[in-house]
Amino acid sequence: MSQQPHPHIILIQSLKGVGPARSEALISIGITTVQDLLYFIPRRYIDRSTILTIQQLQVDMIATVIGRVTSVGVRPGRRSFLTLSLQDTTGNLTCTWFRGVHFLRHVFSKGDLVMVSGKVAQYRTLQMTHPDYEILDHESDGEESLNAGRIIPIYPSNASLVKVRLGGKVMRRLVNTALETHLTHVQEHLPQVLLKKRALCSLQEALTEVHFPTHAQKLPAAQRRLAYDELFTMELMLALRRARIKQARTKEQHPAPSHYALIEPFIANLPYTLTNAQKRVLMEILNDMDAPSAMNRLLQGDVGSGKTVIALSALLRAVERGQQAVLMVPTEVLAEQHFNSMHTFFQQLGITTVLVTGSTQKDAKQTLATGEAHIGVGTHALFQRTVTFHNLGLVVIDEQHKFGVMQRTALYKKGATPDVLVMTATPIPRTLSMTVYGDLDASILDEMPPGRGTITTQVQQARNRPKFYGQILDELHKGHQAYIIFPLVEESEKLDLSAAVQSHATLSTGIFTGYTCGLLHGKMKSAEKESILSQFRQGTIQVLIATTVIEVGVDVPNATVMLIEHAERFGLAQLHQLRGRIGRGGNNSICILCATPPVTMDARKRLKALASTLDGFKIAEMDLEIRGPGECIGVRQHGIPEFHSANLLTDSQLLLEAREDAFALIADDPFLNAPEHIALKNRLKQQHATNQ
Ligand code: ADP
Ligand code: MG
Repeated sequence: MSQQPHPHIILIQSLKGVGPARSEALISIGITTVQDLLYFIPRRYIDRSTILTIQQLQVDMIATVIGRVTSVGVRPGRRSFLTLSLQDTTGNLTCTWFRGVHFLRHVFSKGDLVMVSGKVAQYRTLQMTHPDYEILDHESDGEESLNAGRIIPIYPSNASLVKVRLGGKVMRRLVNTALETHLTHVQEHLPQVLLKKRALCSLQEALTEVHFPTHAQKLPAAQRRLAYDELFTMELMLALRRARIKQARTKEQHPAPSHYALIEPFIANLPYTLTNAQKRVLMEILNDMDAPSAMNRLLQGDVGSGKTVIALSALLRAVERGQQAVLMVPTEVLAEQHFNSMHTFFQQLGITTVLVTGSTQKDAKQTLATGEAHIGVGTHALFQRTVTFHNLGLVVIDEQHKFGVMQRTALYKKGATPDVLVMTATPIPRTLSMTVYGDLDASILDEMPPGRGTITTQVQQARNRPKFYGQILDELHKGHQAYIIFPLVEESEKLDLSAAVQSHATLSTGIFTGYTCGLLHGKMKSAEKESILSQFRQGTIQVLIATTVIEVGVDVPNATVMLIEHAERFGLAQLHQLRGRIGRGGNNSICILCATPPVTMDARKRLKALASTLDGFKIAEMDLEIRGPGECIGVRQHGIPEFHSANLLTDSQLLLEAREDAFALIADDPFLNAPEHIALKNRLKQQHATNQ
């Protein structure tokens, strides 16, 4: 027996006007059901009231007109070009294209109704060169009244639609048929309370208006309703997932001691007091850790906001409870830095800490297995099967965006139901992190420790080298330290490495004579790396020439200047992380971005963006703008749905509202059993089925 489709699902081929060729083309763009067609949102709209007649055109104005194609032809020659003659009831216009001629000649046919926008010129006739164009109808489509409205929807198109001549008019007619015959079957799934609370229009109204707006002013409301809908359903899924995780992760009983025997002396011993943000976040974490279900929390805080001390306090809480804890970081350099900073003081508190990297010996690991060691700090070497724990109660992951999801969960499995804290320095915008990490509880460190100097960022060209080397020397004279960073691009790893090595040789005997220059790169043995870094930390090395191994976590407050060579090759998030190595002390710092041609437009935008702000959230948002959501870190792997109406770039407020509503709803009715939530439950099921 063939599988029965869901009763509410009506396949697209059963829609009037859709034959085999059209249904194939529609399916190729993801429209398999009539419902998909109802949710096929116009890409844009044309308001006819803003369209001029050809007679109204004047030279140099930028205008939009609609006309029928009276002729289309290619003038051959060394530089062939395409001319298109358009006519409306008032006159003629010639459009010319010098590029894309071979593609365009198949796009237009005589008799097509075409809209063009561009700058008007006058030679022998009125002209537009390379106008934007839109084919409104093919001649063969015949006339009908749908296009008489003031606002015309323009749908996304592609080659397979063009091939079967499924143009704008046919699409509009199909959508109209779908609305006429199926809109009454569309059930409102959002609870009335929410529609009222957020002043949203009904689903039926939204779908009608989004395709055929009765008035320009009705459109935003329809779009907002549909965008909210998408965001809300996504957040609802996340809220459900989180509720299930919470339920499944009930901890073994580990009585939490009521006082902080280890944390208190640790914090009292710090050379500074915690910021208010640090205090708040620490309380959130400690409350979670003392609760009956396991913690599943994300700590977000810009580079330099002071996440380490929070992580260390959490480790101590686990030990206070009589359990083991582990801190995982992406590089050996960082693992060693953390280990060194906690080792001495933790020892005074009677806590044994072990470092686990690729070169860690078996007997050191053994101490974690027996429970002799309380805390493990290490790299991905912690995933090794030979690493086991006696009673692992807490997993902290620093710079978590450097790890895959699978890697992380492999670590959780080394305990029964350990508390989990993941930390990230905002590699992605808030709106994206809400979706990528949407099923985690979030804490945000939104305050920088006081007393920091400023960072000035300059974009420089290689020929200004004498000048910016001078700036570096000035800092060195003041007793400060410098980073010089070289990119490491995988394909040319050797080449870039040699750039760092060579420059170390020339600089240490050249302009920086008299100062000690150290070299640090990923190919060095870890003992060697650690020795260089600790000399830099102690100030016996003043200039550190390094590849991106220092990108995350390295903390040397006396370093006040950073030169990034080939800055055009770095991503924005990475540049921000690198720059976060300076400006950590009380002195003002300088970051010099040296760009070497060729520099692409996007690279130029990235450098400009970085120079314009120090705020990691803003930088992440600009990154999203430059690259688009699909390219941002973690989006693909985390399977964020593709949105039709919502836009993560512009709808952040709406997303916040949708998230608040979704999580509140699940808190009230975790299984969506209330009668007013049945429609919603069905909608989720249906969506889940089509996502499989
Ligand atoms: P990140 O969030 O990038 O991991 P770190 O934890 O490395 O930041 O902290 C950056 C620097 O700020 C360190 O030198 C740390 O000692 C210092 N620091 C952290 N918290 C405070 C505070 N409340 N007041 C002053 N300095 C602080
Ligand atoms: Mg850090």
